[in-house]
Amino acid sequence: MDTQALCNGFRQPSEGPGDGRQNKMGIFAKPDLDIDWQEYSNCLGVDPDLFFPERGASTREAKDVCRACVVRTDCLEFALQNGEKFGIWGGMSERERRRIRRQRALERATAAAQAG
Ligand code: SF4
Repeated sequence: MDTQALCNGFRQPSEGPGDGRQNKMGIFAKPDLDIDWQEYSNCLGVDPDLFFPERGASTREAKDVCRACVVRTDCLEFALQNGEKFGIWGGMSERERRRIRRQRALERATAAAQAG
């Protein structure tokens, strides 16, 4: 598998140096997170830079690629669980993912308050 062809592409363990869980953007995947879904990414072969646009640049093209992706939910959940602060993952920007994280934190706090 050509790892450079993956959009947010983490190397498979057998490829490249290290433990194979760092992608070309220097992002590490937590060891307990599944990255196999990447094999089915709609962004295979798409320039990774498209998913890490400059501040203020359009995210439309990347989101168009994500819209038809069968692993969109896996990708988004990976980004949320891995604490990805940058880039388009699962068709969502940093700001959109922050909103989800805040919402989940609020739900956890509410559930804990109700349980306690
Ligand atoms: S949702 Fe987007 S960034 Fe994630 S794997 Fe699919 S095409 Fe790539």
